[in-house]
Amino acid sequence: MKKRMAKLCSLPLTISDTTLRDGAQMPGIHFSVADKLAIAKALAAAGVDVIEAGFPAGSTHEIEAIRRIAAEVPGPMIMALCRTVAGDIDAAWSALAQADPARCGVGVFVGASPLHRRYKLGKTKAQCLELIAQCVVYARKRFARVTFSCEDGSRTEPSFLRQAYTVAMDAGATGIGFPDTVGILTPETAAARTRMLVALARPRGVRLRVHFHNDLGLATANTLAAIRAGADIVHLTVGGIGERAGNAPLEETVMALTLHPDHYRRTIRVDPTRLTGLCRLVSRLSGIPLPANKAVTGANIFATSAGVHQDGLLKNPDTYLPFRPEVVGASGISLPLSPLSGKAGLARRLAELGIELSPDALARALRAIKNAGKADWADEEGLLRRAAALAQKDAS
Ligand code: MN
Repeated sequence: MKKRMAKLCSLPLTISDTTLRDGAQMPGIHFSVADKLAIAKALAAAGVDVIEAGFPAGSTHEIEAIRRIAAEVPGPMIMALCRTVAGDIDAAWSALAQADPARCGVGVFVGASPLHRRYKLGKTKAQCLELIAQCVVYARKRFARVTFSCEDGSRTEPSFLRQAYTVAMDAGATGIGFPDTVGILTPETAAARTRMLVALARPRGVRLRVHFHNDLGLATANTLAAIRAGADIVHLTVGGIGERAGNAPLEETVMALTLHPDHYRRTIRVDPTRLTGLCRLVSRLSGIPLPANKAVTGANIFATSAGVHQDGLLKNPDTYLPFRPEVVGASGISLPLSPLSGKAGLARRLAELGIELSPDALARALRAIKNAGKADWADEEGLLRRAAALAQKDAS
């Protein structure tokens, strides 16, 4: 009954992926048009609602990639990012003019913090507000969907945030975006800002999108706090790639929501079983390795060497896992041996090699491998076969 109530209260949450825009900005990444198409197709197959496909003013490649994604990837809404510059909107239009107007749009942003206003733009608050109004009106002439964001929003005075977003909504913005451009928020401050902006946007039927960076390692926590505080749309990237420490990772946010539906009470369309494949695809095409200990999709998430953990996992995998490998589309549990392994793990590994030992011989073999040096471990199978042979000989 409780579960049904939670389900009844669940509101949809829109998952917007920016792997192909913010993720692509990561130093060392060079996605080809074909790479972008492959990733966009995988995102659509995983159930992502929105794809931010690129920055059209960046290059003709970007325009081409956005155009082809809009033409060849059915399903998600396709967004392009623009500065508050007419030429950027025109570049987005050249990419999206042929697309279904109900399925595409632009995000426009202006540096809003005192630092950005003074040093980057050299504009007063009043000049920024004028720019926002002009640009949103211009963008709305072409696009039915225009999301306006205050860049460096987390370092912008709350009073100016309210002013800027109000001007944007008055000019016709259909969504507002709140970025923590340099990743300085904490869960508490992310929630407070989100509540303030939801209160501003919701009465006007405008949806709030949050975009959080990971400079303090808090992007996922901040995103979840914003979801609890009422954010409608979250910007995420596969594997958390993006500027500096990256963005909130799609796989982490999706799994937190999936594991705790009664707490977050938001329904999402993303299929968790696609997460491992998505992360591997993006890692392969970006050339950015997925760390072994990457939350949710790293190679070590379902691998353990320690004896106590191996013993528990062999008795019941749930003893030492938050979720089973199949939930995120991973291939299975692996129990590589190490000097910290125990009898249960050794017996299992020897069985794989076709070797069965008596309990006494197993104990002797375990002592032998624990005493082996780092160089011996380089040839794990050879070490095990020698240790087993010796242990059996000792018994005879
Ligand atoms: Mn960003």
